[in-house]
Amino acid sequence: MITLTTIADVRAACDAARAEGRRVGFVPTMGFFHEGHRSLMRAARADNDFVVVSLFVNPTQFGPGEDLAAYPRDLDGDRAAAEAEGVDALFLPTVDEMYPEGARTTVHVAGLTEGLCGASRPGHFDGVTTVVTKLFSIIGPSRAYFGRKDAQQLAVIRRMAADLDLPVEVVGCPLVREPDGLALSSRNTYLDADARQAATILSGALYMASEAVVRGQRDAAAIRQFVVDTIAQAPQVRLDYVEVVDAGTLEPVDHLTVDTLVALAAFVGKARLIDNVTITFPAGVPTPDLGVLTASSGPQEAEH
Ligand code: AMP
Repeated sequence: MITLTTIADVRAACDAARAEGRRVGFVPTMGFFHEGHRSLMRAARADNDFVVVSLFVNPTQFGPGEDLAAYPRDLDGDRAAAEAEGVDALFLPTVDEMYPEGARTTVHVAGLTEGLCGASRPGHFDGVTTVVTKLFSIIGPSRAYFGRKDAQQLAVIRRMAADLDLPVEVVGCPLVREPDGLALSSRNTYLDADARQAATILSGALYMASEAVVRGQRDAAAIRQFVVDTIAQAPQVRLDYVEVVDAGTLEPVDHLTVDTLVALAAFVGKARLIDNVTITFPAGVPTPDLGVLTASSGPQEAEH
C-alpha cells in the first residue's frame, strides 16, 4: 500500500492505474477505522483493480461547537487496517492541500439536505458534497462506496452524482452493528460504560418498530411515536429527531407503501449518534434492512 499526501501524487497514481486498464474503486473516510469502514474496503477490493481510501477529517462538514478538534484519530492503526484489507493507496491530504487559500466553490444539493441531520447540522451536507466532489475529481473512481449507516448522506451523494452526471457508480453498503445492535461509529469511542449501555436503546427501538411494521403497522406517525416513546425510557439519551421518510427522496411519508427510511439521531453522553432502518416492500411484503451484526467469526445477517 502506498500512502500519498498530495493531490498531484494520488491523481498520478490513479491515472497510471487507469492507463493499465485497471478500474479504480474509492472509499472516502474520516479515519479511526472499524468494521464498518473495513466492510467498504472489502467491497471495493472485491469489485475493482485499484482501491483508494481517503482519510481526511473534513473541517467544512463540522459546525461550530461540534467535535472537529476531538474527532478520534489513529493513523498507525488505520494504516495497518487498510493494508490488511488490501487497499492499494491511502490518500492522506492536509487541510491546506484540500482547501488552499482563495477557495470559494461549494456544492449544494437542495431539498434532501434540509431535513433529518441537515436540520440540526446546518451546512454539514454542503461540506460533505463539496469534499466528495473534489475527491471524485481527484481520484476519478469507477465506483465509490458509502455505508447505509449514513443513509441521508448516501441519498444526497446519489442525487448529486446523478444531477452532475458524475461518471461514478455510487455503491451503498450494509450498516454494520456491534453484536448487541449498536451501529458501529468512530464516535462510539466518546461513550463511557453507562452511555454505551444506554445507546443500545437506539437500535432496539428501530428493531421493535420494524417488527411492528412486519406485524401490519403502516401508520408513519404511530411508528415514529413508538420510537420516541421507547427512547424516552432511557434518561441518558436525548433524542434529536426521529423521522419516517421516503428512502429515495427523504420526503416524509404518511403510510408505509414505498421504500421507507426510519432514521434517528440522539445525544448519548458526549456523542451524537445516528441510526436507521430501511423497510422495503418486495411483492408487497414489508422487509426491514437492519444491516449486519459483527461477530468474532465475522459479519452475519442481523435477525431481529
Ligand atoms: P466516516 O469515516 O464516519 O466519515 O465514514 C466513512 C464511510 O464509512 C461512510 O460511507 C460511512 O457511511 C461508512 N460507515 C461508517 N460507519 C459504518 C457502519 N457502522 N456500517 C457501514 N458503514 C459505515
